[in-house]
Amino acid sequence: MKFVYLDHNATSPTRAEAVKEMMPYFTKIYGNASSIHSFGRDAKRALEESRTKVAVSLGVLDPKEIIFTSGGTESDNLAIKGVAYKNQKKGNHIITTQIEHHAVLNCCKFLEKDGFETTYLPVNEFGEVDPDNLKKSIRKNTILISIMHANNEIGTIEPISEIGKIAKENGVLFHTDAVQSIGKIPVNLNEMNIDLLSLSGHKFYGPKGVGALYIRKGTNIGALQHGGHHEKNHRAGTENIPGIVGLAKALELNINEIQSENQRLTSLREKLWKGLSDSIPEIVRNGSVKNCLPNTLNICIKYIEGESMLLSLDNVGIAISTGSACTSASLEPSHVLLAIGRSPEMAHGSIRFSSGKYTTDEDINYVIDNLPPIVDRLRKMSPLYVHK
Ligand SMILES: *Cc1c(COP(=O)(O)O)cnc(C)c1O
Repeated sequence: MKFVYLDHNATSPTRAEAVKEMMPYFTKIYGNASSIHSFGRDAKRALEESRTKVAVSLGVLDPKEIIFTSGGTESDNLAIKGVAYKNQKKGNHIITTQIEHHAVLNCCKFLEKDGFETTYLPVNEFGEVDPDNLKKSIRKNTILISIMHANNEIGTIEPISEIGKIAKENGVLFHTDAVQSIGKIPVNLNEMNIDLLSLSGHKFYGPKGVGALYIRKGTNIGALQHGGHHEKNHRAGTENIPGIVGLAKALELNINEIQSENQRLTSLREKLWKGLSDSIPEIVRNGSVKNCLPNTLNICIKYIEGESMLLSLDNVGIAISTGSACTSASLEPSHVLLAIGRSPEMAHGSIRFSSGKYTTDEDINYVIDNLPPIVDRLRKMSPLYVHK
């Protein structure tokens, strides 16, 4: 059977070049980066070289502004809780959006139990935040704005430069969850006035369980995890050297490939949409066509369930997702699709295709050939459809 993996927004395979770079750090260069002896110094050298590589890839002049973490979730937690608790005397108000990843949303929910207040900005039908709305929601006690760069479910890219400018003008710290954008589209930390940025290795062909947080020099932020003096006291714990080496290598390679990959993935995405919308009646595209990640296509297919389509596609070797991977075990409709105005029924009929580096033209043809008959069969069984 043919296998077609179109779930890269959930995770991606670790690319061979990154695996190769990581291998010696499991068996030969296994020292603790905090040890003084040669084994430790070798590990420390790899750690700092990786930090510099990440800094260069992101256009950051001082590698000290990069902190390694265990992934996107930890980076989001460190940014939001780290800023919140450290700035408590200044204020207790945080601004975010209704369409954030749960790593951000549930941080805010947690902080609300501890006396913090959150404004969840709405988005328009394409999933875009209105900068004027952000401006109006800033209060005297606002200490942090956390708005994602690109949405993991629908691929919408937020107006980060405008948001960063507003944050700066109002003297409010700005964090962005860039887990879906780093390595996929250009990010300029200075032009975008970003103070804190989260990224995760496994979303750009690096290993799982390793990420980073960019912290602009001078940002008032504490730690979540206490112990040794690792990572400038922002993140105690022996560093995951193989993971960090792999993340740095994957990031470096991906950033260099952004332009050529973007063109290729955008044309594959449009080919997929055309192929499906030509042969399946009553399907709707979610998110923005203009401001969208090149690899992401999210659609609603009326009268049938996303889960049924997912399982039928899985039977022919095609991997996709419904809503976001983190909520797929629950039957709640996606909070992102509800926020862009889809009804719960429509949201239940949504599926997401997210292609990647190894996705080919044939893969897309395979989906275009296989999905329409599946939709046909499922609709024939759907009471919603028969009653039409
Ligand atoms: C995957 C993802 C995360 C979580 O990253 P992990 O490394 O899996 O913890 C956070 N935010 C967004 C937008 C994501 O897509």
